[in-house]
Amino acid sequence: MSEKLKILFVTSEADPFVKTGGLADVSGSLPQILREEGHDVRVVLPEYLNMDEKFKLELEHVTDFKTDVVWREEYVGVNKLLNEGVPTYFIDNKYYFNRPTLYENNDKEVQFTFFNRAVLEMLPEIDFKPDIIHFNDWQTGILALLLDDNYRKYDFYEDIKTLYTIHNLRYQGQFDPKIIGDVLGINYWHWNSGNIRHNGLVNFMKAGIFYADKINTVSETYAEEIKTSYFGEGLDYALRMRSRDLKGIVNGISYDKFNPKTDSDIYYNYDQDDLETKLKNKEKLQKEFELPVNKEIPLIGIVTRLVEQKGIDLIKAILEEAINKEDMQFVLLGTGQKKYENFFKRISKKYPDQIGVKIKYDGKLAQKMYAGLDMFLMPSRFEPCGLSQIISMRYGTIPIVKETGGLKDTVEPYNEFEDTGFGFSFANFNAHDMLYTIRRAIHFYQQKEIWEKLMKRAMVKDFSWKHSAQEYIKLYKSL
Ligand code: ADP
Repeated sequence: MSEKLKILFVTSEADPFVKTGGLADVSGSLPQILREEGHDVRVVLPEYLNMDEKFKLELEHVTDFKTDVVWREEYVGVNKLLNEGVPTYFIDNKYYFNRPTLYENNDKEVQFTFFNRAVLEMLPEIDFKPDIIHFNDWQTGILALLLDDNYRKYDFYEDIKTLYTIHNLRYQGQFDPKIIGDVLGINYWHWNSGNIRHNGLVNFMKAGIFYADKINTVSETYAEEIKTSYFGEGLDYALRMRSRDLKGIVNGISYDKFNPKTDSDIYYNYDQDDLETKLKNKEKLQKEFELPVNKEIPLIGIVTRLVEQKGIDLIKAILEEAINKEDMQFVLLGTGQKKYENFFKRISKKYPDQIGVKIKYDGKLAQKMYAGLDMFLMPSRFEPCGLSQIISMRYGTIPIVKETGGLKDTVEPYNEFEDTGFGFSFANFNAHDMLYTIRRAIHFYQQKEIWEKLMKRAMVKDFSWKHSAQEYIKLYKSL
């Protein structure tokens, strides 16, 4: 492989075009950094209906051709734009991608088989032969399988290497085996060998694990955890089998996008030398959530999907006790499971002076929270990397986290004896351990000098892509 690599980054979502979670943030930022390092990185994703109109207007038609899926010849349009210098291709087929939801359709195995085939067949059409295809999560999990089974026989594809990144092992893409011949169009050998079979279903994630040249996940701790049955989501045996080729690389964040000094979504811009202005953001946030405005009261909050993974049950278990015993305010921005939404709506009505809740997805308000909170609570049961705690630290908001996955790798706990660290963490998934840690954080919050020191330390710690991008380059070169 030459010094300068040619990489195709295949993803089902990318910021700023379409986003449901952390995968979009990585897809929107890592390729840019790699490109700045001089590598020819290009991104490809589906052209979704709900993509912003302004991007649709920028698209330039590159080519179109036909591919076979389910015995049908299907149209593949390839459109392109430049995203901060990164050539980004969009696979266009109105039937498959003009849908109101991304992953909730009942033919998603067909949608994503179509997408992966279209991506592979697009390459000779656009005259781009990558050294490496970097594919991500279950939606593209079958890419290396299709490559091996259907395309390797052609010279063009013979020596392309593959890297598979697992952003969240929980979502695997599991489907009835009848898709093997009809939809995937692959040899039954792959099923009989067990390489794509799990609990009697075709498992896209497992295919990614077995067919990629190497695999990585988004923090070192998560890469270790998923080899155990507690975190392995049933696939720990497969990951143990491939453990020699499994690495953890922690995600960075975009320092252009997440910068309290320039962020136009927050009330007032500030940096580590101007923490008074951060407090003005806090007062505005208190107003926004209709809480008493008081900069002395610790304001603890969370921006999250309301799902079991995020440890919402721990918050449910102790929130009432916490606000009765501590002089604190709690705010939440999130959507998700109804049982959690209803709980937070109910409790905020009961304690309107201490709890503020907004049940919605709102990117701008999320930024205001990162800027205005004193502490960010993130008691995840498991967390592959987690971005929220990293964004919080960048904005001087001190994280309180469960020690798992990327939370463990990014949040260095405050040690008052050695005077190191800048966050708070607890080891066991236990509500009262969390409550104890919240009280410990409040104890130090009340000692202004210490708290300021923690804020500054968190803000100047480098969480950009600089280091991790180099790790990816090393990994690519080892393929
Ligand atoms: P995950 O990808 O598991 O949801 P991460 O912490 O990696 O968790 O990324 C979550 C991202 O989504 C963060 O950028 C966070 O700010 C954002 N987010 C989550 N819920 C909301 C919401 N209700 N409104 C706005 N942004 C949200």
